[in-house]
Amino acid sequence: MITVGLLGSLRWWFEIVVRGLGGFACDPSDPEMRCPDKAGKRCVVCEFFGCTGWARKFRFEVLDEKGQIKQKAIRERELFKLNFIPLRPVSDEEWALLELTLLFISEYAAISGKTVFKPSEEKGREDRDFGLIQIQDRLKVQKEYKELKEYVAQERWRKADQSDFAWASLQNFWCVKGRYLCRKSQTESTFNRVLGRCEGKAQAQQLEPSDSAAAWLAGGRQESKKVFSFKAGEGRTFGFVKPGLIDFKQMKERLKRAWKNLQYNEFLTGQQIIERLLSGGAKESGP
Ligand SMILES: [Zn+2]
Repeated sequence: MITVGLLGSLRWWFEIVVRGLGGFACDPSDPEMRCPDKAGKRCVVCEFFGCTGWARKFRFEVLDEKGQIKQKAIRERELFKLNFIPLRPVSDEEWALLELTLLFISEYAAISGKTVFKPSEEKGREDRDFGLIQIQDRLKVQKEYKELKEYVAQERWRKADQSDFAWASLQNFWCVKGRYLCRKSQTESTFNRVLGRCEGKAQAQQLEPSDSAAAWLAGGRQESKKVFSFKAGEGRTFGFVKPGLIDFKQMKERLKRAWKNLQYNEFLTGQQIIERLLSGGAKESGP
């Protein structure tokens, strides 16, 4: 079902946003980590999306142009509607976080119809499971940066160690719009140049020796790569860094292997993005 995949992807980006605002979001794919904790506390994300013993607060539907429930996969350029029907009271902050997540995906990232950032059956297939989306109608609930930060920091939410997946946060996200990475020919691939894989198809899975950041960026059998690129539209490339392994400056240097003339202001960090989205939203919601 497409709703399952989309909802999983939405939830994953919602977690990224919550961690980016300084909140805790559990990793629901890890049975040891997921909510609730022993005291019965949930994280902000589980509160909205549900977890064991706590139902999701909304019903999620994907509708086609005519307002019918979509049965088949979404095709290119197809118009569809995501419907969130509250089943229990949803707070303004939750709507605002959802809005922020959707805006963020549409402007700076991509949505997946399948499981996000998990190993795909076939190497190199991940990108095709992702899609760029454009928002036509927005929810009308918006909150300021400070209000959302306060909301995710509230005492009632579960707090736990999230060091294992701390990289999966807007704080470690980056995006370059208007540029993409690709495999140009049999012997030249800007993607592999950035990931630190040897160029050329035959050697593509082979990493350059002594490059530990490359191993993480390229992903292994247990995880997906951390750099994604789309040629569609104006082009878009985004990914994550990992504190202690690779920082934004080093990531930028890697990207310059592909784009020699990359300008300083083209590389946007998650923090810049979140401030842009929230302050921009605040202006638009004025009288
Ligand atoms: Zn949780």
